[in-house]
Amino acid sequence: MEALIPVVNKLQDVFNTVGADIIQLPQIAVVGTQSSGKSSVLESLVGRDLLPRGTGVVTRRPLILQLVHVDPGDARKNDESGKHQNPSKLSEEWGKFLHTKNKIYTDFDEIRQEIENETERISGNNKGISDEPIHLKIFSPHVVNLTLVDLPGITKVPVGDQPKDIEVQIRDLILKHISNPNCIILAVTAANTDMATSEALKVAREVDPDGRRTLAVVTKLDLMDAGTDAMDVLMGRVIPVKLGLIGVVNRSQLDINNKKSVADAIRDEHAFLQKKYPSLATRNGTKYLARTLNRLLMHHIRDCLPELKTRINVLAAQYQSLLSSYGEPVEDQSATLLQLITKFATEYCNTIEGTAKYIETAELCGGARICYIFHETFGRTLESVDPLGGLSTIDILTAIRNATGPRPSLFVPEVSFELLVKKQVKRLEEPSLRCVELVHEEMQRIIQHCSNYSTQELQRFPKLHEAIVEVVTSLLRKRLPITNEMVHNLVAIELAYINTKHPDFADACGVQCVVSSKRKEETCEKSSLRTPTAQYFDRHGHLVGQTRAPPSVGPHNHQAILRPCSQPSVRSVSSLSPCLRRSVPKAVMHFLVNHVKDSLQSELVGQLYKSGLLNDLLTESEDMAQRRKEAADMLQALQKASQVIAEIRETHLW
Ligand code: GDP
Ligand code: MG
Repeated sequence: MEALIPVVNKLQDVFNTVGADIIQLPQIAVVGTQSSGKSSVLESLVGRDLLPRGTGVVTRRPLILQLVHVDPGDARKNDESGKHQNPSKLSEEWGKFLHTKNKIYTDFDEIRQEIENETERISGNNKGISDEPIHLKIFSPHVVNLTLVDLPGITKVPVGDQPKDIEVQIRDLILKHISNPNCIILAVTAANTDMATSEALKVAREVDPDGRRTLAVVTKLDLMDAGTDAMDVLMGRVIPVKLGLIGVVNRSQLDINNKKSVADAIRDEHAFLQKKYPSLATRNGTKYLARTLNRLLMHHIRDCLPELKTRINVLAAQYQSLLSSYGEPVEDQSATLLQLITKFATEYCNTIEGTAKYIETAELCGGARICYIFHETFGRTLESVDPLGGLSTIDILTAIRNATGPRPSLFVPEVSFELLVKKQVKRLEEPSLRCVELVHEEMQRIIQHCSNYSTQELQRFPKLHEAIVEVVTSLLRKRLPITNEMVHNLVAIELAYINTKHPDFADACGVQCVVSSKRKEETCEKSSLRTPTAQYFDRHGHLVGQTRAPPSVGPHNHQAILRPCSQPSVRSVSSLSPCLRRSVPKAVMHFLVNHVKDSLQSELVGQLYKSGLLNDLLTESEDMAQRRKEAADMLQALQKASQVIAEIRETHLW
C-alpha cells in the first residue's frame, strides 16, 4: 500500500486546508472458510507479522485493524487524533489496542500475543466465537490510513464450545461487516479446495451481487495436489469475478514456525509463480494483489476528488472576498491617511446633510435629528413655558405701583411691562441652552455613527480612529461655549429693548384705568376706609385676578379699579418666544453645526496630517493584520490544494 502514501499525504494536506472530512478510504475485509489463509493475506498486505495464524480456529473475533500513517522523519509526531504521542521514542512503528487504552506496543510479537489473549478473554479458550471486535491501531510511516478487517472463517460444523447454529452466527457476523458499501471484499479461497463452490464468493455475492467490490484471492497455490494446477481458475474460467482473481502463496505453517520473514516469503512466492505459472506470474502474487488494491483505492480517491475540488473553489472564492474586504496593506501612508480623513469628514457632513450612504432606519440620526431637536424638542418646550408661570397678580400690581412712583397712575407704565417681560424671558434661556446641548450631543453621536457604519476601513487603524474622534470631539467642545454665549446673547438682545410699539403690544398700550363712577359710589357708600381693590381682566374681559393693594398704595387714598384691557406681561412673553424660536436654531446652525461641518476637514488635516504621526496613526490593529495574514495564508493553501488535486488526477500508480 506504500504507493498510495504520497498521494494520501498530499490529500491530507488538502483536507487540513479545507477542513473537509478526510476521504474515507474503503475498508478491506477478508472472508473465507476457516484456515483458507485470510489472516495470512491481510498480514502480507500490511507487510508485518502481527496476526495470529495457524491451523484450526484461530481468528475467533473480528479484528478491526486501523492503519495510521505517521511521517517517517517524525514518528514521534502526534497521530491523527492529535493526542497520542509515541512514548517509546525508540520505534517508528507502534500499535495500540482500544481495550488496553494508552498502552503502547512496539513489539509486534507482543501485539499478536495480546490479540490471542483478548480473543480468549471474551471467546474462551475452546474455539468459541464472539462478534465483539478487537480494535487495533498500527502507527507507521509505511502504511496509508486504511482499515482492514480480519474475520473468523466460515464454518459448518460446530466444534468445542461453539453453539449449534455456529454457521448462521458466523455468516451474520461476516455479513454485518461486508455489507458496508464502502468495504472491499477479499474473498479468500484455498486453491486446494473446490473453487466452484467457494463459500467466500457465495457470501460475498450476497452483499455484492454484481461483484463491484469483490476481489477473489486464491491462496495455497503451492499446496495443490501433484498433477493439478490452478490455470483454469487463475484464467477466470471457473468463476468470473469482475475485479479479478489473484493467486498468492503465503507462508506455510512451517514457515511461520521458522519465523520466515515477509520479504523472504514474497521472494519465494515470486520464484514459485515464475516456475509454475510463467505466463501468469505478473498478474498474480502478493505484490500484484497489493497493487490491485492500491488501484482500487486510487479509483475511490479519484471519485471523491470532484467534490473536494468544488469545495476548494467555493472556499477560495470566499477567502478571496474576505481578503479584499480587509483592504490592501498600506503602501503610501500619507495618501492613505489623507484619504481616510477626507472620507470620514465627508461622511460626517453627509450624515448631517442626510446624504450619507448608510441611512439609519432604527432612529433619527444626524441632520434629521438636529431638525427634530429644533422643531420638536426646543419648539415645544418654548410653547410649554407657561406665560403666567411664576407671576402672580400681586407681582404685576407691585410692578405697576413701583413703576408709577408716588403718583397714582391711570395708565400702566411701559417700564413695568419691561420689568415683567424680562423676568419671563429669562425663563426661555434655559430651554435655549438645552437646545444647544442636545445638538452638541447629536454632533458627538454622529462621530460614532460614521465610524460604525460608514468608514469601516477606519477599524483597521484604531489609533487613527481614536485620533479622529479626539479631534472632532475637541472641535465640538471648542464650539460649545461660543454657541452658548451667542444664545445667551440672543436672549439678552430680546431683553435689551422691548419694542412696545410692536403690534403684539397693541393691547398692552390700550391699558386703561377705568374709574367707574358707579363702583366708586358703591364703595364710597360702604366704607370710606375700604382698601382699594385691583381687579385684572384678560382681554376678553374675564376676571383673572383680584388683589387688595397695600394700604400705603399712594398718598391719594382714592378707591380705584384698575382694569387693564389685557395682561401685558402675558401677551408680550408669548410674542417674544417665536423670536427666539427662530433665532436660536439659526445661531446653533451657524456657530456650531455649520462651523464644525466647514472646518472639520481642515481641522483634521491640520492636526493629524503630520509626517511624524503617520507611522503611529496607521498602525493596523494586530487583530486585523493577523486576520489578513490568515486569510492570505488560507487562500494560498487553497490554491496549492487545488494544484495538488489536479496532480492527483494525473497520477498513475504504475
Ligand atoms: P485463516 O484461518 O483463514 O485466517 O487462515 P490462516 O491465515 O490462519 O492460515 C491458516 C494456515 O494455512 C496457516 O498455518 C498458514 O500458514 C497456512 N497457509 C495460509 N496460506 C498459505 C499458503 O498460501 N500456502 C501454504 N503452504 N500455507 C498457507
Ligand atoms: Mg484467521
